Amino acid sequence: MKLQDIIAAVQEYYPEADIEAIRKAYAFMRLHHEGQTRASGEPYVSHLTEVAALATKLRLDVPSIVTALLHDTVEDTDVTLDDLKRDFGADVAQLVDGVTKLNQINFSSRVEAQAESFRKMLLAMARDIRVLLVKLCDRVHNMRTLEFLSEARQTRIAQETLDIYAPLAHRLGIHWMKSELEDSAFRYLKPEIYEKVKQFVSQKRNERERYAEEVTKLIERELEQNGIHGEVTGRPKHFYSIYRKMERFGSSFEEIHDLIAFRVMVPTTMECYAALGAMHAAWKPVPGRFKDYIAMPKPNHYQSLHTTVIGPYGHRIEIQIRTREMHEIAESGIAAHWLYKSADKKIRMPSHDDLQFSWLRELVESGKMLRDPVEFMSLVKEDLFSNEVYVFSPKGDVVALSAGASPIDFAYHIHSELGHRCTGARANGQQVPLNYRLRNGDTVEIITSQAQTPHRDWLSMVQTSKAKQRIRAWLKSEERNRSITLGKELLQKDLRKVKMSYERLLKEGELERLGLEMGIKDLDQLLAEIGYGKISTTQIVARLLPDDQKFQTNAVVEQPSELRKIFQRAAKATQERAGIRVSGMDGMVFHFARCCEPLPGDELVGYITRGRGVTIHNRSCTQTLSFDPQRIVDVSWGDKKTTHRRIRIRVSALDRVGILAAMTQAIAAAGANIASANVSSTLDGKAMNIFELAVDSAEQLEHVIRGLEKLDGVVRVERERRKGDRI
Ligand code: MN
Repeated sequence: MKLQDIIAAVQEYYPEADIEAIRKAYAFMRLHHEGQTRASGEPYVSHLTEVAALATKLRLDVPSIVTALLHDTVEDTDVTLDDLKRDFGADVAQLVDGVTKLNQINFSSRVEAQAESFRKMLLAMARDIRVLLVKLCDRVHNMRTLEFLSEARQTRIAQETLDIYAPLAHRLGIHWMKSELEDSAFRYLKPEIYEKVKQFVSQKRNERERYAEEVTKLIERELEQNGIHGEVTGRPKHFYSIYRKMERFGSSFEEIHDLIAFRVMVPTTMECYAALGAMHAAWKPVPGRFKDYIAMPKPNHYQSLHTTVIGPYGHRIEIQIRTREMHEIAESGIAAHWLYKSADKKIRMPSHDDLQFSWLRELVESGKMLRDPVEFMSLVKEDLFSNEVYVFSPKGDVVALSAGASPIDFAYHIHSELGHRCTGARANGQQVPLNYRLRNGDTVEIITSQAQTPHRDWLSMVQTSKAKQRIRAWLKSEERNRSITLGKELLQKDLRKVKMSYERLLKEGELERLGLEMGIKDLDQLLAEIGYGKISTTQIVARLLPDDQKFQTNAVVEQPSELRKIFQRAAKATQERAGIRVSGMDGMVFHFARCCEPLPGDELVGYITRGRGVTIHNRSCTQTLSFDPQRIVDVSWGDKKTTHRRIRIRVSALDRVGILAAMTQAIAAAGANIASANVSSTLDGKAMNIFELAVDSAEQLEHVIRGLEKLDGVVRVERERRKGDRI
């Protein structure tokens, strides 16, 4: 790619473009990156030119192309933002600044440290989406040249691409970019499985092409007979989507017709519906698979009709029907088009509101109210991945919610009060339970009662971050109020024993002063901590007593009994044996959470339960999302080598001779012991294997999983989690 090619590409979609600015930026970056090379050995300028070329593919405006050329100057050369402002204007300087800041965020490193910068980045993006578009181009080129980096960096960058950038490309509606990013990340993250999928797709190439050609002809004939002029294509799906589909439906590599999606392109919207009618008349549609994204476009402006029919040979055929304009938006995303009002008059221009990318704003706003960064990041990831379901309010308004949303999500979407008070719902006039999964087109009506309040169980029934966050906030304040009341009662009782008056201490400000001494910001907080059991009343009373009384009151203020001492010693010994450290709570009983069964090496989080000591969870466990931060304690693995921990993994594989032996060998090779194995065959020729293993670290488990994934015939390996502990 040369400067000339970039200019030609820009002029093609934007003849009036200010070419001089691009020339100037090109010369500027050549000068400043002079002599720098990339890990591949290529001169650094090649990276910048490629990124700019990708930006033209998205049909970005001139400041964005200039930014693509200059995006690494501030980070990697001695050029300053002021230099850029002077030479290229404030717009470009701001864009480069945005991309530079994005580069400094390392998404997979410690979440707490990064969540705040990620939040800032989202805010910046919500203001100017071009920052993200240039960053995406940068990421595409970095992924194309990833092979030159160390394995550790490959994994980190690939994971970040899959977690953050591919979903962002999807939300922006840039289909080719999403597919490319997913496939390249897949290649580095699961190399063995990637190779298997790739081999399978290429082995079946001839067969697949014959099938695609035949079905294409059949569809064309149907269109023709109905007087519709359409263009039909059958294209293979990208590797990662094939893998995901296999994972979801547990299908093996046998069914080639599932690898192809057919697309019908027609001149007008009316003809889209006519073509759909022709397809459904010729072949039986699969119920529940028809989606009208023309009447109800996705939030990223994607429009098409989707259907699945039972085609020739009884195979399912997936068909998308759209116009050329819809196709362009589906491929490049709407962002590419709003930058140029002159580019194409036929495309429905989004309104001002659309340009604000409301989903992005909502994401940022829901994050603002969360104190816990871990929780924030997991909400962001969930939101990026979720697909939508469209339902109607009783007034006929369309409401878009995450797929799998329940009536509770719907209620919170309308109003917090409606959410808090909802007792039931009707979908299309029929009474449905609160955990009902909304379906496209449902008309939803919420039944409320003034006596109703949110339940903890609701957290497992909702999908949207808004509902989760509102329910959690309500539960937290409720729980805190209860703890304050309890703390106050406990303290009053123990103060009475030493003949002190709670009311008088309160009036004299003694309690608040004591709280401050202990680093607690106000009285309510102090009482809450007593209520939770983090601080004992004994501690408080001892601090409040005048020194000369301390000795004589020892008898009054409860001393740990002999029995309690023995109990504490036992608890401490158990902690030591299991190799963990619970900060500030040596004598605390604990147990490992069954939902996530943390392994040595995992990051831990402890939660003070009511009457059952501390439950220890894996930091990434979804249960931790509903935790009250007040009751969280720090837990870490001690230095001692620990005993083995039992965990279960589930392996689905093709049912072939020798596979079980190969699996047990792979497990042994990683140094893990098999405690028990349970193997069953399914009707479609697969074997489902559940192994109970004794492993000594998260790292060892990772070795086991990688070893199994390498085996021929293994489709999927996952850790089996049991149902969560109650809190
Ligand atoms: Mn770069």
